[in-house]
Amino acid sequence: MKSGRRRREEIRLKRIERAKRLEARLSAPPYAVARPGDGVEDADRALLARHNNTCGTLPAFYIDKVFTCRDCGQEQVWTAKQQKWWYEERLGPIDSTAVRCLPCRRARRTQRAVPGANLLGERRDRLRALGARPPDADARAEVEAALADKWWGLRTTAIATLGAWGDAASVARLKTLLAEHAARDGWNSWNRQARAAAFKALGACLPDDETAWALERYLGESEAAALRDGLARRPPAFWEPVIDAEWRRGEPRRLQRLVSLLPMVTAEPARRQRWRERLEAHAEPGVRRWAAWAWPSR
Ligand SMILES: [Zn+2]
Repeated sequence: MKSGRRRREEIRLKRIERAKRLEARLSAPPYAVARPGDGVEDADRALLARHNNTCGTLPAFYIDKVFTCRDCGQEQVWTAKQQKWWYEERLGPIDSTAVRCLPCRRARRTQRAVPGANLLGERRDRLRALGARPPDADARAEVEAALADKWWGLRTTAIATLGAWGDAASVARLKTLLAEHAARDGWNSWNRQARAAAFKALGACLPDDETAWALERYLGESEAAALRDGLARRPPAFWEPVIDAEWRRGEPRRLQRLVSLLPMVTAEPARRQRWRERLEAHAEPGVRRWAAWAWPSR
């Protein structure tokens, strides 16, 4: 006894064979005439004309057609009978054509019909929701699973969830992620996206004991710009010695990054004025320009 699967496979191959033979007969000399029968169906042109607004010609016949399924990549036959049903009973547009085999169409339909069809979106929502309460072992496992998922969007959300938790274990995990994705490659690489997401997540939580580490990353590399939000929450007094140290160090890029952060630190007019005047007096024109840009109002 043959299994159903085996039997279906044989039918599929036979149909493909027949359709290809038919196509060859109709498209090469001596040209055969398409006649209703095996693999050919009459088309009702009058009916097609009523619901198709096309300037192309309408078919006189439907002919078994071989196509490659978009989902499983298998060759399949869209039979003349199926085409007639599609165009004349379902009134499918004449330029529409089969793109998926029956099993894949069914799979797609069930997938869409049940809750969970938008699996990716649901997992993202769930990951975000996890971030709203302190993590337990299950929640951490779910985040780890998402970090290993093939979808970048899911991984990015998992990284943001670690930032929303912001506990010591999550911060450590974020720093591990930064180390794991340290390679410097193209703009569109996962490594780069992972680093950007990790910096952003760290910027969102940034515990006090990570301040020194974060400050060094922020001042040292443009990629770490997202740490700014976390650093800007440090009190004004924290920044006085930082400004002194960076002023002495005198590296324009570091000073520029410092300048773009300082206006977020305090709303105190006197202190802001003092910082701005100091940085606008710097010998480096780039630093002066940045200071003027960062504190536009006088
Ligand atoms: Zn398929």
